[in-house]
Amino acid sequence: MKNSQGKLAFSRGGMKVAVWVCKRCGYVRDSRCKPRKCPNCGDQAEFEKQEEK
Ligand SMILES: [Zn+2]
Repeated sequence: MKNSQGKLAFSRGGMKVAVWVCKRCGYVRDSRCKPRKCPNCGDQAEFEKQEEK
């Protein structure tokens, strides 16, 4: 069992989501699935999953 430390930083309706950061421009997005493209970079974007704190 995990200790949630009182609150979860990223959650939507009880669903846990991951944080994704664009490797090209640093755009941050929280989503359950890996984003296909970045608003800044478009199709060139490559997202990296960040660990939740
Ligand atoms: Zn980007």
